[in-house]
Amino acid sequence: MKPHEHIAGFGTLDGELRVGGMPLSRLAARVGSTPFFAYDRAVLDRRVDELRSALPARVELSFAMKANPMPAVVQHLAGRLDRIDVASGLEMQTALDTTIRPGQVSFAGPGKTPAEIRQAVAAGILIEVESSTEFRRVLAAADQLGIEPDVAVRVNPDFAVKGSGMRMGGGPQQFGIDAEQVPGLLRDYATAGANVLGFHVFAGSQNLTAATIAEAQRHTVDLVSSLAEHLPTPVRYLNLGGGFGIPYVEKDQPLDLGAVAENLHELVDGPISQRMPEARPVIELGRYLVGECGVYVTRVLDRKVSRGTTFLIVDGGMHHQLAASGNFGQAIRRNYPVAVGNRVDRALAEAVTVVGCLCTPLDLLAKDVELPAADIDDLIVIFQAGAYGLTASPTAFLGHPAPPEVLV
Ligand SMILES: *Cc1c(COP(=O)(O)O)cnc(C)c1O
Repeated sequence: MKPHEHIAGFGTLDGELRVGGMPLSRLAARVGSTPFFAYDRAVLDRRVDELRSALPARVELSFAMKANPMPAVVQHLAGRLDRIDVASGLEMQTALDTTIRPGQVSFAGPGKTPAEIRQAVAAGILIEVESSTEFRRVLAAADQLGIEPDVAVRVNPDFAVKGSGMRMGGGPQQFGIDAEQVPGLLRDYATAGANVLGFHVFAGSQNLTAATIAEAQRHTVDLVSSLAEHLPTPVRYLNLGGGFGIPYVEKDQPLDLGAVAENLHELVDGPISQRMPEARPVIELGRYLVGECGVYVTRVLDRKVSRGTTFLIVDGGMHHQLAASGNFGQAIRRNYPVAVGNRVDRALAEAVTVVGCLCTPLDLLAKDVELPAADIDDLIVIFQAGAYGLTASPTAFLGHPAPPEVLV
């Protein structure tokens, strides 16, 4: 996708990028300081609406909170989605502060502490156990509190998904319980005082190929229907994972949601209805929900030419938006989409390199990118900043203040 398509996703007003219905410079004045993150509610809502109209009505949509735990964002999504997936005690508290019922919150992650497990049991949320040790800890906490907990088994599948930005299933993994060990685990624990509702399989993240996601979902349904024979009760929870990717760099093509949805309709109408009629299928998404609604807005502090290269030095950087610097697990650094947010109506005029204010060459936000002429005080916007931005960045590095976040 080209940068102008990202601009079009927000729209423009008075020659500026429109965020939260305002020209960007006005929003910057409203926020009061740069840099900042802004999440546009209308863009977020549009994404939720697209998903709802494409996916089968029976599929529940869950928000994987680690993508963006800002409480206002989580509150907003809680009113529009069916479930929230959390992976820490703090995320659990944020989810419990929303109007989502505790039973609609699931808790995943390979290293839940005994204290977090006890909180989760007391809260009445669904605990996705990722080892037999965790299962024992859940049972111990439940026994102490006198509560029968809801549990699902997170399964490390016996297949892997090609083309995921981050693989989180198949082969050896710290996530989940190997599929072949699940029958034994259920024999030992499934009738030991927990209510085992079903299974969770999450194969990987950031996949842009619909056919691959569809194939993983078909394999997951097959795997879960065979594991279901080892459960004392019917499968009621069938978390198919997600992994829907978003286009970050120019060569990325957006995911064909229609094709993914078509496959889900076939699965829901076919094998899920036939073999697991009581199961609620769940699709769990992080970046696909929130990634595109967010912009990271910085201001040009300095402009200088060094031996033929023009640098724009901005007041933000990798300490807030690590992923745009290429240091968030990317094998090859490529530019995220970027714009001069207060001059989006101007023609591209020059190639510049946008760097952050940190004293390290790693703090590179865009290299040799064509932009309209920009000067000191102009606003440089990095798109695709709504997921894995602020909370996935090393904010303490170099000791600059944390930036504000606004939902507009
Ligand atoms: C991180 C994570 C997600 C979200 O991944 P995205 O790529 O942001 O959609 C979903 N489920 C689980 C279990 C995760 O760990």
